[in-house]
Amino acid sequence: MSDFRLEAVICKNCGSGLVVEINDNIVYCSSCGSGFEILQEGLVPIEINFAAAAIRAEGEMIYKPFWLLKSTVNIFERKSSGAFLKNLFGGSNESTSGDIAFYVPAFYCPLEVLKNISTKFTLKNPIASPQKYNVSLKGFDYGKQDAKKLSEFLLISFEAEKSDVMKNFRYELVFHSMEILGIPFYDLGKGRLKDAVLGTEIQI
Ligand SMILES: [Zn+2]
Repeated sequence: MSDFRLEAVICKNCGSGLVVEINDNIVYCSSCGSGFEILQEGLVPIEINFAAAAIRAEGEMIYKPFWLLKSTVNIFERKSSGAFLKNLFGGSNESTSGDIAFYVPAFYCPLEVLKNISTKFTLKNPIASPQKYNVSLKGFDYGKQDAKKLSEFLLISFEAEKSDVMKNFRYELVFHSMEILGIPFYDLGKGRLKDAVLGTEIQI
């Protein structure tokens, strides 16, 4: 954060001035609820919504951005050990398919933390009806390609509770849509955050 810099852009939808951190590749307009990817060719619309807080805790509430990737997984061959995919796809070892909504942080966090919170949200898929909030959403560190790779990493980790089964897992992961979800967290101080949906504590 030592080279923290700001840049001004104008919302393409309502004309509001938006301030983005220099490394952010996405910006949310809290005036009108529009989201944009900041690309070479300019601002390209992207869907951004927010989850409601479901639990109470101490600390200031802040929102952190997650990627929500709606996908279909086609499994051609597997020697399964992961309970999640077994449940999702009906317990058979035959080739099969199913839909998964992956929740992956768009903000930087250590890999173990990322895996932990992504797994909890993806397994529970807890956010049924996200909505627009007039709040600030900043700190986008992972882009679309990162989010796809992280989703694949999660899929493999669901299947391979034991690492020795990996050679038998043949699959295809097809992404249908990618949007941003702002998830509320309580700031517990010193880099500790507790999400207000599932109550997961993380250190970033
Ligand atoms: Zn706007």
